[in-house]
Amino acid sequence: MRNLKSPIRSPIPKLGSPIPSPMPGLQKLPQCTRCCNGIVGTIVKARDKLYHPDCFKCDDCGVNLKQRGYFFIEDNLYCETHAMAHVQAPEGYDVVAVYPNSKVELV
Ligand SMILES: [Zn+2]
Ligand SMILES: [Zn+2]
Repeated sequence: MRNLKSPIRSPIPKLGSPIPSPMPGLQKLPQCTRCCNGIVGTIVKARDKLYHPDCFKCDDCGVNLKQRGYFFIEDNLYCETHAMAHVQAPEGYDVVAVYPNSKVELV
């Protein structure tokens, strides 16, 4: 008898997704190198790294580098001023710099 006597057993019918993933779709987004969030819309691509347009800025002073050219030192992104400051590294320090005439690719 109690079997038939539960009219409201599950208030929410099977409309929810059976996939337990909390944010489906987010994982498909390209990930911003700086803030590690998914990028929706315009992507700034520099070398093999992807950034939000707003995240594409100097590590030191935060100036946006999209229009200015960018420098990579190791995996950090700098404006010219701060790239120069960091390039004064000890001899043998492996510095990889990308010069301002490098094209920024907007995807
Ligand atoms: Zn970002
Ligand atoms: Zn800077």
